[in-house]
Amino acid sequence: MAVEFDYDDEYCTGCMACVQACKDFYDLPCGNNFRTVTVTEAFKGDGTLEVTFKSRCQNPCKNHVCVPACPISLITVKKE
Ligand code: SF4
Ligand code: SF4
Repeated sequence: MAVEFDYDDEYCTGCMACVQACKDFYDLPCGNNFRTVTVTEAFKGDGTLEVTFKSRCQNPCKNHVCVPACPISLITVKKE
């Protein structure tokens, strides 16, 4: 059965701790990540810049060391 996560991107700070934990665990080479954090910048109606972050893993694994790595517990295991 595939692992599924819940993730609350409203509060993601883009700290990359989840990405780094996975990278360290799997000893991935430079430029190769299983998890990525995308950054979106958009101007709101009042002219202020809004920056949002989204953390995603395309092929979730059962080790999910990314989950405890998040300092504000945004990633949780939904199903495994
Ligand atoms: S679920 Fe597994 S492969 Fe995906 S980011 Fe977390 S540790 Fe890496
Ligand atoms: S999900 Fe958590 S660990 Fe990953 S970038 Fe967002 S705040 Fe940081």
